[in-house]
Amino acid sequence: MWHILGAGSLGTLWATRLARAGCPVQLILRDAQRLRSYQHAGGLTLIEQGRAQRYAIAAQTADHPQPIQRLLLACKAYDAAAAVSQLAPRLAVGAEIVLLQNGLGSQEEVARCAPQARCIVASSTEGAFRQADFQVVFAGHGHTWLGDPLDVQPPAWLEDLRQAGIAHDWSLDVLSRLWRKLALNCAINPLTVLHDCRNGGLLEHPAQVACLCSELSELLHRCGHGTAAEDLHNDVLRVIHATAANYSSMHQDVRQRRRTEIAYLLGYACNAAERHQLQLPHLQDLYSRLLSHLDAHGLPSH
Ligand code: NAP
Repeated sequence: MWHILGAGSLGTLWATRLARAGCPVQLILRDAQRLRSYQHAGGLTLIEQGRAQRYAIAAQTADHPQPIQRLLLACKAYDAAAAVSQLAPRLAVGAEIVLLQNGLGSQEEVARCAPQARCIVASSTEGAFRQADFQVVFAGHGHTWLGDPLDVQPPAWLEDLRQAGIAHDWSLDVLSRLWRKLALNCAINPLTVLHDCRNGGLLEHPAQVACLCSELSELLHRCGHGTAAEDLHNDVLRVIHATAANYSSMHQDVRQRRRTEIAYLLGYACNAAERHQLQLPHLQDLYSRLLSHLDAHGLPSH
């Protein structure tokens, strides 16, 4: 049984594909009211290439007594620890938690809340967004890397992902993948917020991007993830070109007045630099300017 917490973009993307492959799935929703709205909607709708399909997947709230053997955590990084604490009494012996959160930091928080569980970390390039409540658009096909920094043994349920058509690999260095993604995010997303531009707008600020890439590379080396620093600047420029017409996820969050995951992205990077007594003036300056910007827009800084 796959228990999936969070019927948002990624939760829906995983739940619907697993369910249609015949895997048993149970959604865990926030509260009784969300459960009622879900039942009223009649299930989760996934929209792929303009075609909508509804899946009547079973759902429950966190206080349901059913034990949990495998939990897919599909909430935002800032909700992850609280969500797992709530479910901790239901986690069976030998339970596994699959963490889909972007950035770094929430994985350690979750592991502290559920020390009895095996935590499997994921880094995904798939893209989805909520068109309406319980209706999700599969916007970008991609790949998901999964791994466990404490245990190289792949879990048997990777076969479920294969059957569900979820492109994936078991990674022996998933933390480096998360660091690389975090570095790409730090070099692009905050600047798009501060310059209020699409990703391509950063081509007008090459020196700022270059300084950030150089400092981020230094940080990755110091944190023991030198492989994640390889060719970072060129990769950042490649992403800026390839996504020139898009607004970054952080830009969209700020524009729509949604809480950002900054504490688990740029905030995590700056804290790591401080822990290693590394002076990274451009990164620190970017962080403080972003915090002021969020504050001015009435958005939380964590
Ligand atoms: P999302 O659409 O906002 O969905 C998060 C869901 O978690 C919401 O449905 C929310 O419930 C639910 N939730 C939060 N706390 C809960 C709780 N205690 N109990 C039950 N449900 C709870 O977020 P997302 O876009 O799927 O992102 C999830 C993570 O994946 C983020 O870290 C994101 O950065 C990462 N990611 C996303 C994408 C993407 O394309 N979307 C791609 C790669 C990585 P409500 O609906 O009730 O608020």
